Amino acid sequence: MTKLKINSKFMSDCIFCKIAKGEIPSNKIYEDEDFMAILDIAPVNPGHTLVVPKIHCDDLINLPDDLAQKSILVIKKIVPAILKGVEAGGFNLTINHGVVAGQIVPHLHWHIMPRFPGDGWDLWHGKAYPEGEVDKVLEKIKNNI
Ligand code: 5GP
Ligand code: ZN
Repeated sequence: MTKLKINSKFMSDCIFCKIAKGEIPSNKIYEDEDFMAILDIAPVNPGHTLVVPKIHCDDLINLPDDLAQKSILVIKKIVPAILKGVEAGGFNLTINHGVVAGQIVPHLHWHIMPRFPGDGWDLWHGKAYPEGEVDKVLEKIKNNI
């Protein structure tokens, strides 16, 4: 478990911290010492699950490395059960990072969204780079790594 002081690991006004502390009920499908996986209160499809670190963390960038590594193992562990449980054909895995990306709850969480044929959920639509733009974008990003 990540070494954080027990008193500083929760934010008092955070809904997911309250769930982690047991102050607000949730439908928990899995938990271990670091993560909980709860059914989303407003699912896009049945079985829509949120994987949430128990410590408060705003976003993936601020997540300690050991928990970042563990998070994908938790997801890998529970996905088969979700797919089998709701008989889904596939799933989308998403983090909404930042308000501009639709993040509402500022406590990191992964969405596991089961998918069904004809469920009506579309993906975003890609568009081609304007002429010459891709190289500029590539450089701008690489220069920041
Ligand atoms: P995001 O912040 O990535 O946009 O999404 C937040 C998600 O948390 C939403 O899908 C919303 O339905 C879910 N949510 C918000 N409040 C609660 C809650 O109290 N319990 C549970 N289980 N899910 C919640
Ligand atoms: Zn929190």
